[in-house]
Amino acid sequence: MKRLFAAATLVWASLTPATAQQPAVSPASPAASSASGLQLDALDKAADACTDFYQFACGGWIAKNPVPSDRASWSRFEELQERNNETLRKILDAAAAGRDIESKKIGDYYASCLDEPAIDAKGAGPLDPLLKKIAALSSVRDLAPLIAELHTIGVNAFFQFGSQADFKDASVEMAIVDQGGLGLPDRDYYFREDAKSAGLRTQYVDHVGRMAALLGAPADQAAAAAQQTMTIETALARGALDAVSRRDPNKVYHKMSNAELQALTPQFMWTRYFTAIGSPPIYAINVAEPDFVKAFGQMLTTTPLDAIRSYLRWQVEHASAALLAKPVVDENFRFYGTALTGAQELRPRWKRCVQYTDGDLGEALGQAFVKEAFGPQAKADTLKMVHELEAALEKDINGLDWMTAATKKEALVKLHAVADKIGYPDRWRDYSALTIVRGDALGNSQRSNAFEFRRQMNKIGKPVDKTLWAMTPPTVNAYYNPLENNINFPAGILQPPFYGAKTDAAVNFGGSGAVIGHELTHGFDDQGRQFDARGNLKDWWTPADARSFEERAQCFVDEYANFTAIDDVKLNGKLTLGENTADNGGLRISLMAYLARNASQPAPTLDGFTPEQRVFLGWGQVWCENVRPERARMLAQINPHSPGHDRVNGVVSNMPEFQKAFACKADAPMVRKNQCRVW
Ligand SMILES: [Zn+2]
Repeated sequence: MKRLFAAATLVWASLTPATAQQPAVSPASPAASSASGLQLDALDKAADACTDFYQFACGGWIAKNPVPSDRASWSRFEELQERNNETLRKILDAAAAGRDIESKKIGDYYASCLDEPAIDAKGAGPLDPLLKKIAALSSVRDLAPLIAELHTIGVNAFFQFGSQADFKDASVEMAIVDQGGLGLPDRDYYFREDAKSAGLRTQYVDHVGRMAALLGAPADQAAAAAQQTMTIETALARGALDAVSRRDPNKVYHKMSNAELQALTPQFMWTRYFTAIGSPPIYAINVAEPDFVKAFGQMLTTTPLDAIRSYLRWQVEHASAALLAKPVVDENFRFYGTALTGAQELRPRWKRCVQYTDGDLGEALGQAFVKEAFGPQAKADTLKMVHELEAALEKDINGLDWMTAATKKEALVKLHAVADKIGYPDRWRDYSALTIVRGDALGNSQRSNAFEFRRQMNKIGKPVDKTLWAMTPPTVNAYYNPLENNINFPAGILQPPFYGAKTDAAVNFGGSGAVIGHELTHGFDDQGRQFDARGNLKDWWTPADARSFEERAQCFVDEYANFTAIDDVKLNGKLTLGENTADNGGLRISLMAYLARNASQPAPTLDGFTPEQRVFLGWGQVWCENVRPERARMLAQINPHSPGHDRVNGVVSNMPEFQKAFACKADAPMVRKNQCRVW
């Protein structure tokens, strides 16, 4: 939910707006039955690997795996998440039925979420106390405590507030105020002038109006409220920073005193806000985007109180939509599921409830998941691979012809300081202060949000605890945190097709090995390279080496900007630069690490493929996917990751190692004339 400065760089992003439905199905994934662990029926052997490697690696899978009706896309990541969710369902069913005190909270949360008749019977009743408070708002001066209460329970009103390491002293947590308050996926959605974007805005206003009507507003008032909301959100969006600029840490770091923040926004009583959120004393705050905060203040002076109340009602209902009665759930899906991402039907209730339980009680549920699905061998194998990847990156850095000794030395200091976190946290989160009540689905969600908000508030001013995780154990994803200089691999992704205990090492290196390499090289991408070994925003590059890096990075910007996402929409080369650099560097060092492991005794050919070919196929096969056009368009506009097709072909076509492994001719499409390389 948090959209604070993206400190964590992931390996992929599902990027569904906060309360949008993420539909799911479970077509059973046929277990790979090959000598190597590759999924042979996922291949398209009629395709030529040197012409379109993605088609060769994934053509069979793509043909056999159309997007299910309750999904916006279907990929190997989602396939695995679905298998993990089946495990979670068993855990939760047992917890909901049992008397086990250890699992009582997750069982009660899940059972309450599943009880659709009880939720439907309450209608919008659970929102009444909040709606009454909004109705009672009689002056902008009284807004601060109300916004504080809404933020505490997870409502995205006007801006976001949280805790994050100080960029310039990353050992200490500080308060951060960041842009927020929008119902569309990104600020640019409010301004793009093409017909599709304009149409989506019309649908959005219609949706906000229908939601108001579901709270009982007469049709004309509901339509007026929707217009008021759109006006407010557009004013906020005008002050917000675009997604490419937000990748630059210097553009989202403005350390200020409370008085300086107050001077930017005289219309909003920050002192009352800080008191109401119950934060420790705040002496300094990162005002990520000062222009946004100013725009927020100015909007308050020009907007009638009646419009502010309409906007707050919308944000409250929007934040609660998933756990309200069926008409609200359906209307929420109609816009966020269908209009925005192309999904045709809502996924089954249990799948949604598994996801919400993971979101709200992730480390309680995750503890049970780890017992079930993640053994010591997976952890040991992964750690071994991580060390081999780190050695390969060191060798790679030492061998670079464009970097001078001075910068190499600093790069290695940073690399040696990377902390490796694998599977799950050393200490599990203690949820004893969180009350879960059976039969109170929305209340459970609000109290969970409040628990999380208080946890964030309590960090302010304290040392950063780098042992904490930003992902739950069943998550099929991974991240690098530049402010902590650590790499994090949840148990959820250390499963086939990324890693298998019995899978051939070459395939594992192409899958989880390249994911490890991807996260490691994030420490050295256009964003990560600006932070030092301790996570401080501090330049450790000689100017000449920084220029050389930028020249090389520009090659990726130009390469990926030429890829078409859908129709007339191209990828944004700058938005995807960090991820593309990580993909390219990650696969290269994983291949290096694999070859180093087998240097004395080369591995045999398996399933008709050489070891090098299997590394590339392992990489190709984790990115097989089918994506609906609506979602493809959305992702091209907001996702820093490239689509699977380009993550595969973009990378291999830059690698002479690929050309050699598949004996491609020099003029083959998978051999770029101008091959890009940073790492
Ligand atoms: Zn990444």
